[in-house]
Amino acid sequence: MAADVIVLGAGIIGVSVAVQLARRGKSVVLLDRRGPGEETSFGNAGLIQREGVVPYGFPQDLGLLARYSLNNRIDAHYHMAAMPKIAPFLARYWYHSQPARHAAISRSYAPLIEHSVTEHSILIDEAKAGDLIVKNGWMEAYRTEAKRDDDFAFAERLARDHGISHTKLTQQELAQAEPHLSHDFVGGLKWDDPWSVLDPHSLTMAYLRLFESLGGTFVKGDAAALSQTPTGWKIQTENGLIEAESVVVALGPWSDTVTTRLGYRFLMGVKRGYHMHYAPQDGTKLNNWLIDAERGYFLAPMKKGIRLTTGAEFADRDAPKSPVQLYRAERVARTIFPLGGRLDAEPWMGARPCTPDMMPVIGIAPRHKSLWFAFGHAHHGLTLGPITGRILAEAMLGETPAVPIAPYAAERFNP
Ligand SMILES: Cc1cc2nc3c(=O)[nH]c(=O)nc-3n(C[C@H](O)[C@H](O)[C@H](O)COP(=O)(O)OP(=O)(O)OC[C@H]3O[C@@H](n4cnc5c(N)ncnc54)[C@H](O)[C@@H]3O)c2cc1C
Repeated sequence: MAADVIVLGAGIIGVSVAVQLARRGKSVVLLDRRGPGEETSFGNAGLIQREGVVPYGFPQDLGLLARYSLNNRIDAHYHMAAMPKIAPFLARYWYHSQPARHAAISRSYAPLIEHSVTEHSILIDEAKAGDLIVKNGWMEAYRTEAKRDDDFAFAERLARDHGISHTKLTQQELAQAEPHLSHDFVGGLKWDDPWSVLDPHSLTMAYLRLFESLGGTFVKGDAAALSQTPTGWKIQTENGLIEAESVVVALGPWSDTVTTRLGYRFLMGVKRGYHMHYAPQDGTKLNNWLIDAERGYFLAPMKKGIRLTTGAEFADRDAPKSPVQLYRAERVARTIFPLGGRLDAEPWMGARPCTPDMMPVIGIAPRHKSLWFAFGHAHHGLTLGPITGRILAEAMLGETPAVPIAPYAAERFNP
């Protein structure tokens, strides 16, 4: 089979790239070794984070780092044995998180985030997936006045600099919004602009169906089988040999499967995360996507139940699951909300694909004229799928991307 483009990886990023290319008239084959959206994109917290203009930096406060080093927290956990391997990534991540650099990165990152909800909105309409979306922002609940006031000040900065809307909630207002939440909280903050997704996997599948309705084809195969031809690329798949002029690598945390063989180095790391679903106890309801801000875990009222998601685990991507954060979080979550029984046989785990400078890689490969990259979306892959697909497709077609893509170029790691 011949196509214009092969997209490797059918997570939310690969599906979004494929659909944006197909919408622009390209013939596209989308390839994955599993079903679409079954890896990292399957189990996230479901937020389209329009407020997320400042990427999550590596802590700079030595006191906080010392507390993290005890390795007993909910929001972060690490595997000691993985440290020698991941230390170079962590060192660069720390370097890029220093205040002046972090501020510059945020300025480059914010334009992508600005298009997150609007670009999803277009695909949600075309995919007729509106029933999966809740347009009601999300909430932070605070145990201390100090954290609440810090975050209020941060929200005011985002309102001033980026036009992000928020609502400050008193203890009473939080209790009204969430009548079954415990009284451990002194107040809350509602980010008004984000949307949330009742089942992230179903949204990826809705975008996949849109892609197929536009003539695109999904096939199963191993991206490691990719090779160059005199005119482009070829790959053996379960549907036979596919040849195409161009290839897009959208393999999320596995992007090195292809990039390393082709001579590129990205110093990527992963932040692994877990989820588990719970039934609410009889007669109770969680109304909002909500973070227990000082503890660092999330509760999301999804289709499959209340999804508890965890923060960052620094570990080897392929190491066995170690869901200690999930169990710690569950113990605390049960004290703030009447969670019922676990609904999954075992915790789900995904690996957020992270670059050390907190921005994704989007654009052409420096030394191959028909090889394109779209990976490294860390905490915001769901948020940024459609806009990533749009600007990559525009660049591939020789158009001016809706957001200038120079800040996301692969050259920053491969000069
Ligand atoms: C707990 C948690 C909560 C999160 N919450 C949010 C949130 O609320 N909002 C948000 O925006 N983001 C969130 N994220 C981040 C988001 O889920 C990721 O950024 C996103 O899913 C990355 O998508 P991707 O398509 O790059 O990667 P993936 O979804 O991992 O897709 C990569 C694909 O490549 C395929 N693949 C790998 N190797 C091969 C191979 N050799 N051959 C063929 N195919 C291969 C895989 O099967 C997979 O389908 C969260 C992540 C976690 C873990």
